[in-house]
Amino acid sequence: MPENKELRMKGLGVSSGVAIGRAIVPVNARTFERAAESGVSVRTPQEEEARFCEALERSKAQLNDLQGRLNQEGKVKEAAIFEAQSLFLEDQEVLGPIRKAIAKGLSAEGALNNVMNRCLAVFEKMGTPAAERQAADVRDITSRIMNNLGGGPAEVSQKGGILVARELAPSETADLENREIAGLVTERGGSTSHTALMVQAMGLPSVLGVANLLTHVEDGDLVILDGTKGEIIIDPSPETLLIYSEILAEQRKERAELKALRGKKALSKNGEEVKLLGNIAIPEETKRLIDFGADGIGLYRTEFLFMGRKELPDEEEQYEAYSRVVLAARGKEVTIRTLDLGGDKFSTFFGKIRESNPFLGWRAIRISLDRPELFRTQLRAIIRAANLGDVRVMFPMVATVEEFRHAKSLFLEAKAELAARGEKVKEFIPCGMMVEIPAAAVMADHFARQVDFFSIGTNDLVQYSMAADRGNAKVAKLYDAMHPAILRLIRMTAQAAKSGERKIEVCSCGAAAGKPETGLLYLGLGVDALSMPAEAHSVIKRALLKFDLEECRKASEAIADAPDFDTYKKLRAEWLARFE
Ligand code: PEP
Ligand code: MG
Repeated sequence: MPENKELRMKGLGVSSGVAIGRAIVPVNARTFERAAESGVSVRTPQEEEARFCEALERSKAQLNDLQGRLNQEGKVKEAAIFEAQSLFLEDQEVLGPIRKAIAKGLSAEGALNNVMNRCLAVFEKMGTPAAERQAADVRDITSRIMNNLGGGPAEVSQKGGILVARELAPSETADLENREIAGLVTERGGSTSHTALMVQAMGLPSVLGVANLLTHVEDGDLVILDGTKGEIIIDPSPETLLIYSEILAEQRKERAELKALRGKKALSKNGEEVKLLGNIAIPEETKRLIDFGADGIGLYRTEFLFMGRKELPDEEEQYEAYSRVVLAARGKEVTIRTLDLGGDKFSTFFGKIRESNPFLGWRAIRISLDRPELFRTQLRAIIRAANLGDVRVMFPMVATVEEFRHAKSLFLEAKAELAARGEKVKEFIPCGMMVEIPAAAVMADHFARQVDFFSIGTNDLVQYSMAADRGNAKVAKLYDAMHPAILRLIRMTAQAAKSGERKIEVCSCGAAAGKPETGLLYLGLGVDALSMPAEAHSVIKRALLKFDLEECRKASEAIADAPDFDTYKKLRAEWLARFE
């Protein structure tokens, strides 16, 4: 009887869905290690310097092309990654030591390898998700220059196969869409890595961070990839293959079913309508959401316009971007969130900021209030765009009422500046805030007297409440958006919004709002609207059709008020079972 070699390996399921295919292990899966000779050159230092300059120029040109192509396709976020890499190619702190090593007689490859390895060691020691992403960029840029020094380009192709790699560089990931592969699995990479964001946007089933992957998979092996469970199965048994073939057929059917809900209203079982809004990072995403039937844009993350560039976007450029969103929303509401840089979202124009706790540091509204010129420029652009539609302004990471008042006073100053310039200014533009710091949720009654709306950001609310980094897989178990602590904070916020003289709207716009098992609980707690990426709209609509809001209220109240941990676990499991 043949030996059953089926091997299951776990990783991070960063993009859901199942894929079955033959493993493609590209020759360059180990490029960086292979090219890591640090030999003394047989050429003169001048010749090596010339080779290095040429490879550098070629790399810059390739990145430029890649950026241009992505920008043209409207993939501004992805393009920004390569812009940041181009800046790296001009960084004298990196180029200087490489040139010095070449002058001492090392080959260009050897010098590049030595210096880049030192950079990598620094990032790897930091161990944060942001540092991991920077390390991935360093590896990407290193293999690009290495290739341009003599090696050929990466070869990753084969329709319907599953790409297996130690780590996929952002430039290789950007190329995947054209290669029609069925799935991606890598040895390295976290859930908020650039690669993770890119495969999610493509809807490509992917599992990242599978330890020792390359020692177990050979080119041509049959692989099942389960992006939902975060598992791969190498050489599956006939029984496993049959089970997964059925899942795959089911997945195809489900995707067709979800597609049928596009453009429809979000209705509960007994016909109550629920307001569903969209989350966007770039203007181009707006049209798709409105076509899907979204009631507007609940969260426009404007910081993406500021990331990976040398100069700040001026008022005109910002006005142009915001207007595009407002016009594409065709009269529906658009909530524009002011800059939320910091944490894991960096920009080069503030220089190198070193903080031991970036998520607890100089981030979001804290930066805006410290840089009033920058903030008022953004506010002027938003106020001007408000003339074109139904715009609301939202401040991120507000912790105290003083911060909100300060932000609001700068907003009023920006309005006055525009009026003084003779520009048309709308009399009332709602000003709201994100509730994503536990202190803000606890003090929601104080805030409710000042603000025009709340939007609960559970991505941060959960990380700050549970003291569990939102991007760290090691503490993912603690990162529970359904925990009674979180539900109680959401309930406090919703109650505060409705108990004052002015009743204000409460939205929820973190990732949990787009998941049926949490989004429906939040509605039950009194949240008025849910905001999420386009893909989640049909999923929420389909789930809503099976519940009435009273059921959601009962379930959320019961979980929030669970008298002890065991009851919570039991109620949680029962609620989750209703979504299977
Ligand atoms: C959140 O924290 O839930 C949120 C929506 O903001 P961001 O993910 O941009 O921090
Ligand atoms: Mg947030």
